[in-house]
Amino acid sequence: MTSGVSIRGKRRITTVVIGAGHAGLAMSRCLAGRSIDHVVLERGEVANSWKTERWDSLTLLTPNWQSRLPGFRYQGYDPDGFRTMPETVAFIEHYANAISAPVRPYARVDSVRAGDDGYVVATTQGVWECRTVVLATGACNLAHVPAVAAAVPPGIATLTAMQYRNPGQLEHAGVLVVGASASGIQIADEIQRSGRAVTLAVGEHVRVPRLYRGKDIQWWMDAAGVLDERYDQVEDLVRARNVPSLQLAGCHDRRTIDLNALSALGVQLVGRLAGINDGKAQFSGSLRNVCALADLKMNRLLGTIDEWATAHGLDSEVPAPHRFEPTEVEAAPQLLLDLARGRIKTIIWATGFRPDYSWLDVPVLDRKGQVRHDGGVVDSPGMYLMGMPFLRRRKSTLIDGAGDDARELSAHLASYLSSGAPVSRAEPSLLSQ
Ligand SMILES: Cc1cc2nc3c(=O)[nH]c(=O)nc-3n(C[C@H](O)[C@H](O)[C@H](O)COP(=O)(O)OP(=O)(O)OC[C@H]3O[C@@H](n4cnc5c(N)ncnc54)[C@H](O)[C@@H]3O)c2cc1C
Repeated sequence: MTSGVSIRGKRRITTVVIGAGHAGLAMSRCLAGRSIDHVVLERGEVANSWKTERWDSLTLLTPNWQSRLPGFRYQGYDPDGFRTMPETVAFIEHYANAISAPVRPYARVDSVRAGDDGYVVATTQGVWECRTVVLATGACNLAHVPAVAAAVPPGIATLTAMQYRNPGQLEHAGVLVVGASASGIQIADEIQRSGRAVTLAVGEHVRVPRLYRGKDIQWWMDAAGVLDERYDQVEDLVRARNVPSLQLAGCHDRRTIDLNALSALGVQLVGRLAGINDGKAQFSGSLRNVCALADLKMNRLLGTIDEWATAHGLDSEVPAPHRFEPTEVEAAPQLLLDLARGRIKTIIWATGFRPDYSWLDVPVLDRKGQVRHDGGVVDSPGMYLMGMPFLRRRKSTLIDGAGDDARELSAHLASYLSSGAPVSRAEPSLLSQ
């Protein structure tokens, strides 16, 4: 609901939500439920990131049933399927329409600064004044590229996971994919299958099987409460917020794409890219250890699932517990690769993403450029954050996590508005609806 009032070219509204991805839309739905007038400012169109920043073959790694949003549940015929990008865009657009979200497309926010009574939000379509503002601009606006990229020799094309679209973009020659989390393993799999020889530089990663004991791993993690673990319960929150994405893909045949599967396809595994010297890539010798650690952590997760299954009487309904083959690593993985004169003609940086707050003129960023916040309540009265890894729970980074976060943060925001003064952090009574 928008009822912005225009005063001398500036529009005044209670809340500005920045970003019309699923997180901004979930917040819009919750604000509307509380009759808080608001606008959703979007630099592109609804679902802009999914429309413009993903590769062609990407499918969600979360099954269809697991994209619940406030007021929306999957009701199609394929709850266990995985949405393609066009289907994901259509789903988010459908949600925006169904909730009548007051989205202003093509209104890029160029600055947010403190005003007399809240914030002043300057956009390419004019200025908004508001008491409260929700930053829902996403966690993945920019590709993170390691500093070592500066030493890539000439003649090698480099692409980030945001620039990669399909193997047809690449020379028909060897490809080095750096990073083996969700993006890296999916891209490596696709490029190797296209007939180009892939070398995959593997750092810390989180290994999980697609299916376990006859059910999807996401089903288990959802049911066993793993995804609901809260930010104020986890032991090391900084670490939890920086854990790499799951090594997982949403393939129609539900296959697991892990390092063993990639090796079987012919992908060559090497350690983390540690440097490039004289045109030669240097890989860390820790590949074996890194893989052993990922195997150990996967088995720990499967142990948690098994305990939960037993405690909830599921053992007779699903296949017995089992463990997967350890990750196979060559006895002496390659430590050096000649980029200047070798077979590699393309490097793909699948080394993660980061948010872009270059437009945020409120002093809330820490030394690493991240917004300082307590479960989404930003360190500036009336400012809120959505869509960040482990914002309030482990699932916050997923589409499925936005609902609970938006419900809780909109409750906090409403309380802030009615008290007229800043409310302290996460009061459970406010956060339980
Ligand atoms: C490759 C990849 C695969 C993923 N796969 C899954 C998956 O399978 N399942 C899952 O649940 N999650 C997945 N995610 C995670 C997550 O769902 C996405 O990161 C999601 O896009 C985050 O939603 P969001 O609404 O927070 O941000 P976004 O969808 O990025 O939305 C933010 C919006 O803000 C807009 N914006 C940014 N800056 C401005 C500005 N200055 N002014 C106005 N508007 C602005 C953007 O245009 C964008 O529309 C994936 C993420 C990536 C990167």
